[in-house]
Amino acid sequence: MKQGIGRPVYSGVSIGRIYLYKPNTCDLTRPAEDPKAELEAFHQAKVTAAEQIAELYEKTLREIGEEQAQIIEIQGMMMDDADYVEAVEDMIQNGSSAASAVHETGDAFAAAFAAMDDEYMQARSTDVRDISERLVRILCGGSSVFHMEDPGILVADDLTPSETVQLDKEKVLAFVTRQGSSSSHTAILARILNIPSLVQADIVLDDDIDGRMMAVDGFTGEYYIDPDEETLTRMEDKQHRVEEYRQLLEGYRGKPSVTAAGRKIKLFANIGSPDDVQRVIDGDGEGIGLLRSEFLYLGREDYPTEQELYEAYRKVVEAMDGKTTVIRTLDIGADKKVDYFGLEEEENPALGYRGIRICLTREEVFRPQMRAIYRAAAHGPISVMFPMIISEAEVLRIRAFCEKIKEELKEEGIPYGETELGIMIETPAAAIISDRLAKLVDFFSVGTNDLTQYTLAIDRQNAKLDSFYDAHHPAVLALLEMVARNAHANGIWAGICGELAGDLELTDTFLKMGFDELSVSPSRILELRKKVCESQVG
Ligand code: PEP
Ligand code: MG
Repeated sequence: MKQGIGRPVYSGVSIGRIYLYKPNTCDLTRPAEDPKAELEAFHQAKVTAAEQIAELYEKTLREIGEEQAQIIEIQGMMMDDADYVEAVEDMIQNGSSAASAVHETGDAFAAAFAAMDDEYMQARSTDVRDISERLVRILCGGSSVFHMEDPGILVADDLTPSETVQLDKEKVLAFVTRQGSSSSHTAILARILNIPSLVQADIVLDDDIDGRMMAVDGFTGEYYIDPDEETLTRMEDKQHRVEEYRQLLEGYRGKPSVTAAGRKIKLFANIGSPDDVQRVIDGDGEGIGLLRSEFLYLGREDYPTEQELYEAYRKVVEAMDGKTTVIRTLDIGADKKVDYFGLEEEENPALGYRGIRICLTREEVFRPQMRAIYRAAAHGPISVMFPMIISEAEVLRIRAFCEKIKEELKEEGIPYGETELGIMIETPAAAIISDRLAKLVDFFSVGTNDLTQYTLAIDRQNAKLDSFYDAHHPAVLALLEMVARNAHANGIWAGICGELAGDLELTDTFLKMGFDELSVSPSRILELRKKVCESQVG
């Protein structure tokens, strides 16, 4: 038996066989054995890329517009650029593999474009990188979707949010990763999915562990490979006790969320995909307090269309059967990366081009979302909220845009419904001016994951800083108190949808601050209701 430790991010006990996750990466250092075959592979990859681009061009033209479609067309032209092709061919002749030659040439051309004075030419840097990455992906055998035959424990170095969303969640009994922080999106997904998970595990990822038995304790962070009989019995007993506690919590199903002193609060659920809506119903959520809509954009090759978004939202709203759904508009950027957005590498992505900043500067991305949301609102109650807000000016622009969208739908004779308009408070700027912002919106929802990151100047993705990332910090709590006070002084409601909402040590504090709603992973609702019902806060 081998044993080790990680940082638990979702409790529970799992026992099963290890699936060692190996992302489909290319060995770019491999020398080409046969330059002729590598040249042929390069030209074949160009043909495949040209087909993909032609398809993408048509789709973009149809669904987004000519300007964006032209960018795709330019990428196709770049791939055929004589200098580019010649540079790749030269490298192959000199012993590089096709993938490595494309990768290096792409990098060199991108750097050259970026250094030009002309803004238009600078922008081509991303295009040449994009097309080169496409070629490399084709040369490396396509997608990186990981297939699990049977249920098992997924062990990986790290998982990005887009890798996580592509997994067959029904088969994952536990996640164990060597990297990752407890507030990363992968950890958040694990909580939504109700899967015991460890990050920063001291596990050695050699092929030898693939398929071995493993027991994971999501309470203590301990794991055991090939557990001996005594350990296995102990873990099975613990699994039993967890089951018994779950039975106890069942007693709170359907009960009102009211403290012993009579104070009522709404307990909503956070989800990442329309497929999670069943988890909200099973978890007894009183509504959805955060639908992270960007997960509809991850793990795919191209933008979802307005129709796809509409159908996804409609499915959620109908399943919620009259209960509120709060949809957060796209919050891509930082750790949530999507190739087809063509976002440039940034020095400080968490402080960069993300969230509402993308929507307010790329109307072709914002429009289909808002049209889909308003159309879905014809089928049930939807509230919409916007991430990463820092100013009144942004809110005013959003409001004007929403009015324009409704006007458009009206003129086109397309049915739509009204929604509440709210904002996420996840920057200190928004919290500090929440008295002014409250006059412009219907509600606030505090994103404590980012609010903590930006207040404490601590990258939530950096595992090394986990011990410094203190969401109970008095500065964070002071901002939370200020937000609730300013909301109520202006007659609007305030909730919390960051991970802190489910922190049972703070439930009384949040009730005293007067928060009206807490939104947590669906699997945490019953436990939180038990805590609320036992509270003496009036
Ligand atoms: C937050 O920042 O607290 C939040 C809810 O948004 P996300 O975790 O998706 O950034
Ligand atoms: Mg956030």
